[in-house]
Amino acid sequence: MDKIEFLRTLFDYVRVVDPSDKAIKYTFRPEEFPVITQNKCFDFWKQNKICDNCISMSAIKANKTLVKFEIESGKLYLVMASPYEVNGKVCALELIKDITHTNFVEAIDQNKTTDYSDLIARLNQAVITDDLTGLYNKRYVEEHLPYDIKMISYSDKNIFIGIADIDHFKNINDSYGHLVGDKVLTKIGTILKASIRSERDWIARYGGEEFIIVIKGEDEKIFRVICERIRKEVEATKMKFSDQEFNVTISIGGVGIHPSTKCHFEDLISRADENLYKAKNNGRNQCIVEFVHK
Ligand code: GH3
Ligand code: MG
Ligand code: MG
Repeated sequence: MDKIEFLRTLFDYVRVVDPSDKAIKYTFRPEEFPVITQNKCFDFWKQNKICDNCISMSAIKANKTLVKFEIESGKLYLVMASPYEVNGKVCALELIKDITHTNFVEAIDQNKTTDYSDLIARLNQAVITDDLTGLYNKRYVEEHLPYDIKMISYSDKNIFIGIADIDHFKNINDSYGHLVGDKVLTKIGTILKASIRSERDWIARYGGEEFIIVIKGEDEKIFRVICERIRKEVEATKMKFSDQEFNVTISIGGVGIHPSTKCHFEDLISRADENLYKAKNNGRNQCIVEFVHK
């Protein structure tokens, strides 16, 4: 830690964070960080949830320094995160500087916090949003899913990860054009979003025509019911764009885990993907969901 001592002269707050469970591993001045939940890194922003734009997780994944702005209590902060190894584990070194009263902000808007707080919120939201569908994007999945899985392991709740993939989507593009294909993606995104409880569960567009569904707290039977309901809803929805009218179907591969199951998020995605592959090979327009008890 001596190596980073000099950073205290440059930044207001210096800390080392393990983004997989959002724990603060080390900080020079612990008393400066509020403890709201269980001494989680996001407590600093006085919110009871993980930051939408968690650059520490992304910095580790990309193996480079990332930067963002955050607003808290009318102050504007510059936040930098870099991969940083502690006892053989890759964590993130977070450098936070209050830049409210600096030339930088005055240059933007004469130092009026209210003017830029909206802009910062929109910037941080844009980073985790898929442009086409308005759903969360792949970056959100990579930042949030590992944390959701970790948090479930401290509870008595199950978690379910499903991958929904549009059947023969290439044919839709070929028959009706790419723009209509885009509209289909948006429409399916809307159906998926309407089918979950957004305060707890979430949906993301994971790739071209693939969506991730994350449902927490339900039992195995309910997971299957939800998947089947989504599948039927898509099948029954008429895709109507100007003079074109057609139906599309989706296949869903999923995996649910018990909180005591130790599982890396990439393994869960792979298992869900294997089940999706089975659903495709089995004739498509179906859900294959497994539940791992231990
Ligand atoms: P399967 O039932 O096996 O999933 O067949 P598929 O045709 O859906 O799968 P495939 O992987 O062969 O093709 C996926 C297609 O999705 C190819 C690609 O052009 C299209 N696609 C990916 N992203 C977008 C997008 O943003 N917009 C549109 N319109 N098409 C996209
Ligand atoms: Mg696909
Ligand atoms: Mg497909």
